[in-house]
Amino acid sequence: MLEVRNLVFSYPDQESPWNFHFTVEPGQCIAIHGASGSGKSTLMNLLAGFLEPQSGDILWQDESLRQQAPWQRPFTSVFQEHNLFEHLNVETNIGLGIHPGLKLTPENQQAIEQGLDSVGLEGFGKRLPGDLSGGQRQRVALLRALLRKKPILLLDEPLTGLDSEARDLLRQLLLDEKARGTLIVLASHDKEDRQLLADSVHRL
Ligand code: ADP
Ligand code: MG
Repeated sequence: MLEVRNLVFSYPDQESPWNFHFTVEPGQCIAIHGASGSGKSTLMNLLAGFLEPQSGDILWQDESLRQQAPWQRPFTSVFQEHNLFEHLNVETNIGLGIHPGLKLTPENQQAIEQGLDSVGLEGFGKRLPGDLSGGQRQRVALLRALLRKKPILLLDEPLTGLDSEARDLLRQLLLDEKARGTLIVLASHDKEDRQLLADSVHRL
């Protein structure tokens, strides 16, 4: 279980701090719902370890993550900026997610190729991110996150701005991922995404 326990945070000069408090089970998706500026991305950054809370705790399988660096935590994240390396082709971008030194096994290579097929990007492995549309880049970022096989996916508006075909594809991919036991924290102001993917909603 992922437990966010009275996680208190405020930016300097902020009047009233946030207090995030919820639990999620493996294989479930919690939607973080709130207007623009309500703190969705802030929560994602706290979970990922890019921001330090003032108090409270984050527990995974009853162990605190507070002392763990971002790379040690059980999360992989897709944030609004896609964070693809512009000078590296698609397969290298994905490969770096699997192994930072790019020591990829034939099975890894195969997973990348099959993954590209599964997100509708068959044969795009050698392209540079700059030659892809926004939706295609988003699919690469999501695929890279999925192939890291971490227990928890942090998704910050991952389907925003996609055409309906790509959106359907990625929604199905996320449903499959849940069925495999992955826990998803989804920041989204899209009602359809929440209805389709979320088992619970945390309102900000
Ligand atoms: P959301 O993702 O729900 O749109 P954010 O978490 O990005 O909301 O931001 C929540 C609030 O915190 C906003 O009012 C924003 O202006 C403020 N904020 C975000 N980042 C910072 C920062 N680095 N310093 C100060 N205030 C910030
Ligand atoms: Mg945001």
